[in-house]
Amino acid sequence: MAIEKTEKIWHNGKFIAWDDATLHVMSHVVHYGSSVFEGIRCYALPSGPAIFRATEHMQRLVDSARIYRTDLPFTRDELVGAMIDLVRQNGVWPCYIRPIAFRGYGEAGVNPLNCPVEVFMINFSWGKYLGHGSGEGEGVDVCISSWTRIAPNTLPAMAKAGANYMNSQLIKMEAMANGYSEGIALDVNGYVSEGSGENLFVVRNGVLHTAPMGNSVLPGITRDSVLQIARDLGIKIVEQQIPRESLYIADEVFFTGTAAEITPIRSVDKITVGTGKLGPMTKSLQAEFFGIVRGEKPDRYHWLTPVPVAARQPVGV
Ligand code: PMP
Repeated sequence: MAIEKTEKIWHNGKFIAWDDATLHVMSHVVHYGSSVFEGIRCYALPSGPAIFRATEHMQRLVDSARIYRTDLPFTRDELVGAMIDLVRQNGVWPCYIRPIAFRGYGEAGVNPLNCPVEVFMINFSWGKYLGHGSGEGEGVDVCISSWTRIAPNTLPAMAKAGANYMNSQLIKMEAMANGYSEGIALDVNGYVSEGSGENLFVVRNGVLHTAPMGNSVLPGITRDSVLQIARDLGIKIVEQQIPRESLYIADEVFFTGTAAEITPIRSVDKITVGTGKLGPMTKSLQAEFFGIVRGEKPDRYHWLTPVPVAARQPVGV
């Protein structure tokens, strides 16, 4: 997907021109993958732009940095404020917001601690992640990856770090090479972990299952949102290890993620999930989720942070 430039990028507390947001090839991150980042959506509500779970995303960025012994030079709330300013300043919404902190140009060698921490924030327009129509439509065809998910005590899965996405890239490229939209990785013990960029949910006999943190999943903000909605709908939730074969006998399977939102899965390894049609539980969770982020239902969980903008038309998705 081509990147659409905006006017400004936020860098260490200042706005700079899009084309000036460059870095030196000897920056630590280029060689050793030393970045932590976030992906956040700003939705276009009838009332104007609103950022989805801004504080929770920035808290995860702070947590990711802490795991890597990185002191961010901004507090969580300052970063939330900067994100609001960025969307307002560029006047581009709906959009995807990408805050990233990394080790910059300092010393050569693995030790990151003498390299400066650089923080950037970018926003740009971005549509549906897993292809047109995947969100509320028919669902996507996926496979189990031959690649195992990053294992405990190798790369920490609770940190959203750039380096983790080398594993995700292997999963994604293999899936695409074999004609699937996405791959699901099993963890080091062979239990279901997650997609290359999404958490996974399985429905069987009216019960909603998802893997706990112990199965090397990212603590997804959308995952948490779906769990909150499900709890309120009185759905029984089970967070425990999921064997691979559960996916083949499930009534419904779906992905969650900032980019993927709630994307139904139509088949796993060419075995049709349930009837192959959007299932009732996925549908009711989607109805609540999309109702809230489109401003059609009340924001009863206080998930949306409005961005004060001058009266301007949103740009197309
Ligand atoms: N797992 C991985 C590996 C991801 O990259 C993402 C996307 N950030 C998710 C899960 C879903 O997390 P979230 O709902 O916070 O976007």
